[in-house]
Amino acid sequence: MKWSVRSLVSACLLASTLVAAAPQDRTTEQGEAQITDPNEECTPYSYAPVSNAKSSFPAVWPPLNESATIVPNDNEAMSMFQALNSSIPNIAPHGTQPGSIEGNFTGNNYTAADPDCWWTWAHCDTPKYPGLEPDLTRVPEPDTFGYGFDDGPNCSHNAFYDFLAENNQKATMFFIGSNVMDWPLEAQRAIADGHQVCVHTWSHRYMTSLTNEQAFAEFYYTIKALKLVLGVTPTCWRPPYGDVDDRIRYIAKSFNLSTIVWEYDSNDWRAGTGNITDADVDANYEDLITAAQNGTFSTEGTIMLTHELNNFTMSEAVKFYDQLKGAFKHLVPIAVALNDTNPYAESNYTMPTFEQYTSGTTTTGSSGSSSGSSGGSGSSGGAAHSSWSTLAAALAGAAAVLSALV
Ligand SMILES: [Zn+2]
Repeated sequence: MKWSVRSLVSACLLASTLVAAAPQDRTTEQGEAQITDPNEECTPYSYAPVSNAKSSFPAVWPPLNESATIVPNDNEAMSMFQALNSSIPNIAPHGTQPGSIEGNFTGNNYTAADPDCWWTWAHCDTPKYPGLEPDLTRVPEPDTFGYGFDDGPNCSHNAFYDFLAENNQKATMFFIGSNVMDWPLEAQRAIADGHQVCVHTWSHRYMTSLTNEQAFAEFYYTIKALKLVLGVTPTCWRPPYGDVDDRIRYIAKSFNLSTIVWEYDSNDWRAGTGNITDADVDANYEDLITAAQNGTFSTEGTIMLTHELNNFTMSEAVKFYDQLKGAFKHLVPIAVALNDTNPYAESNYTMPTFEQYTSGTTTTGSSGSSSGSSGGSGSSGGAAHSSWSTLAAALAGAAAVLSALV
């Protein structure tokens, strides 16, 4: 076999790249992001800021039919909860635990009048309890797709995030606290790549089934984990399964979290379960693309539920990316579609305006020190230090919101 000079050069380059990457650096975001073998990506590693703090968090992925609860002797969390609890709307948890935690609401007595604006009942998104904002199901910018993915960080998401990076495409990532604790460097990649991060609870349970204290803990420890690992405190969340009512909206609002659901569901997360097939998911994407082509979103954009849950859901996103780009004028993170340039409690991290993003400035990033970026939190546990003051500030802001409510 004869090698041309060019192929020899590229073979050498390839070899040197492989050699350079050979001892995988699994201590930094940048090192972790270079791993291309999903099996290696998903081999657990230890990250000191998380392992050192684990005892102050609930169990990562609690057993089936259980949720996060306030950690014993976490007096700070308990006193915050107690300050909040008496103002929470007097709405009973739906269903009976433990089954209801996984969404079995059999035997639940609920009336057709939908007094709690329970999304799971009839997709109510306009709260009945005074002072609560409607859930976000669409985005105000016309011909715009509020682009986002649930259930991350997925340990094997590098190929997908590489694809987004190659396309200079940012999105909104709804992260599960337990996954953030398991895969902190993958979580950091979202910020490093310029994506927006929102809360998707600690253990992905049906939130309306939980007691006030359990629901508080699901939010509280996810926010704490994100602050520890990413250095930022999100101001948005998405209820797993869309399961939210006015009681849960109220608790979310007390954490300064706005509720984001969706208008379309790709059902990608259900593929292969029940009677949902891969072809059904294709059809859901295609229906959205056709609707966009037909001018359905000419006055207001939309949001579809999609996931970074597994290889199939990420592959579907890649497969339909060009068609979505062609059908919509703009694919942008939800904060950008809302012109929310300050999507975190921290003021030193900003996102571009819609105008900036659509004219090519897709990141504005963090200003000043490296805190809030993956570099800052990746290289030391420094971010953990300031977590309490910011969380306390977020909760102080929430207290003002609460006193306005009651
Ligand atoms: Zn989810």
